[in-house]
Amino acid sequence: MYRVASRIRKALGDAPLTEVWFAFDDLQAWSGRLQGQPLASVETLGKALLLKFPDGTTIYTHNQLYGRWMFSTPDRRPDTGRQLRLALSTSKKSALLYSASEIDVLAPGRLDEHPFIKRAGLDILSSGADWPQVAEWISHPGFARRSLGHLLLDQSFLAGVGNYLRSEILFRAGLAPACRIGGLGDQAVEHLADAACEMMRRSARTGGITNDPERAERLKAAGWKRRDYRHYVFGRDGQACFDCDGPVEKTVVAGRRLYWCSRCQAG
Ligand SMILES: [Zn+2]
Repeated sequence: MYRVASRIRKALGDAPLTEVWFAFDDLQAWSGRLQGQPLASVETLGKALLLKFPDGTTIYTHNQLYGRWMFSTPDRRPDTGRQLRLALSTSKKSALLYSASEIDVLAPGRLDEHPFIKRAGLDILSSGADWPQVAEWISHPGFARRSLGHLLLDQSFLAGVGNYLRSEILFRAGLAPACRIGGLGDQAVEHLADAACEMMRRSARTGGITNDPERAERLKAAGWKRRDYRHYVFGRDGQACFDCDGPVEKTVVAGRRLYWCSRCQAG
């Protein structure tokens, strides 16, 4: 979502919006109020986007599986069979949201009352948090007793960690999925915070490649397929761990597949 947010910011800039259109009638009443304002900021919160206006109004969107942002000039719409749900245009560019399952408008000052936001965890990408801040957040006693394999998929822990990032963060931190934060020393908590920051930022920067950048480049040049060089462990069961040559293992935690190296992640 972080990349989508940057694209929206780039498309609309700080020019006043000439069009704010909602497919849902009950939201369309906001259109007159928002038109003429520029977009103040676009923030991500897990898989949700917060489009903020200077007067304090916020458009909240959550794409679930099918929502998709597309971009065009205002005089023509993309050729798609999808249903348009939200259109934001300046005189030069349109940002168009298709097939989203949840869109809401929050009046100034009401943002904190949105149920999704109330239970949201720390979003490393949009908050710009550094690893000491992440370490402080994950050390909260409320997180101490659950296994990391479960916790990392809980959006109230770290927002925006999808299934592959869970495996990659654990590998990078050298921690087994069954570890609990309450049982870790300070140094392991710091490694976990650092791994979470690094994996999320690298993935946003590279479009989903979490492996060491130099190694990924080298393997790509050697003709490896993207799915084989993309991650440290995710999707690589039965193959050799890049670090120790041991076998990458596959298991299921919290109903989703998880990959790990039991030698490198003995912690
Ligand atoms: Zn290993």
